[in-house]
Amino acid sequence: MITASKKQQTLVLRLSEFDFQIKRTSLTLKGAEQNASVEALRSESLEQSEKLLEANSNLERLQDDLKKVLADIEMADTRIQQDQGKAKAVSSERELKAVESELVSLQNRKSMLEDTELSLLEQLEAAEKLVSDISQVRAALSIRLEQELAKSAGESKSLTAAISELSQKRDAIVAELEPALFATYQHKAQRGVPVGQTLGRDCSACRLAINGVEFDAMMALPEDSLPTCPNCDAFIIR
Ligand SMILES: [Zn+2]
Repeated sequence: MITASKKQQTLVLRLSEFDFQIKRTSLTLKGAEQNASVEALRSESLEQSEKLLEANSNLERLQDDLKKVLADIEMADTRIQQDQGKAKAVSSERELKAVESELVSLQNRKSMLEDTELSLLEQLEAAEKLVSDISQVRAALSIRLEQELAKSAGESKSLTAAISELSQKRDAIVAELEPALFATYQHKAQRGVPVGQTLGRDCSACRLAINGVEFDAMMALPEDSLPTCPNCDAFIIR
């Protein structure tokens, strides 16, 4: 049976409470550093970048197609003008028919090209809107990512400060503890919950009931005796 003054026993209990808080805060810090929403925003942002690349190349392709169609329309116009000139200067009915039939096929071609131009203009409008929509989504994502990173950094900073404060308080308790008692505490802490209290007949460290005879014997011990739980070996602070 370990002998420890009531004050030393209280210190051991407080030490275990600080160790528990330090452990819990360290876990929260780990969570803040591996911020899941930052990861989600990063991958969403990457996805939008790929979409934007695709939308931009589609837009460029449509712009190229439109240029070609406009050049073809201009070429058709030039030939129509030339043929209209020719039609005035023909010397025979046969020649006139040939020029007129060429003019009809040129007009048909021009009209087909103009239909293509209209359809391309519609597609261009949609493609431009898509590029602008994706750009807006990306910009919003980038703002949210910055905010999340700042929040995460702020959380990490305050949690680190909290851990440092808790550790200082813990060190102050360790300085007051008798070295042998601290060594036994550390040994118990490596194996499980090092300190418990009685909750009715239960041990708060392992949550198991202490049998009646052992419990009564434990309660009858002098104040400076520090008993341990028969189930989990934690110190029992009465
Ligand atoms: Zn126990």
